[in-house]
Amino acid sequence: MSLGEAAPTTGQGKRILLATAHPDDADIMAGGTVARWVDEGHKVHAAIFTRGDKGHDDPAMTSEAVAALRELEQRAAATILGVSQLTFLDFSGSPGPGHGSRRRRPG
Ligand SMILES: [Zn+2]
Repeated sequence: MSLGEAAPTTGQGKRILLATAHPDDADIMAGGTVARWVDEGHKVHAAIFTRGDKGHDDPAMTSEAVAALRELEQRAAATILGVSQLTFLDFSGSPGPGHGSRRRRPG
């Protein structure tokens, strides 16, 4: 199943794993679909590979501050959409396609 594709209508209450690179990727690209899945009775678990700590234009923002802000925003969006579980996998991330290190940040 890909983003934007309807969840199966038979057997309500499916468990759907939504995996994205950055906070807000799924909300921007498929927030309506996620809300529909939740409305249909499915449980959505969002797994986000990074905290989006590299994608900010303000030079005064540290990576840690950006990551904290992105996490708060993502948690709020997940609550609004009805996502039942949210996991940050905590890979180091950078903006744009084909980016990001597979190296986990310590701690
Ligand atoms: Zn992204």
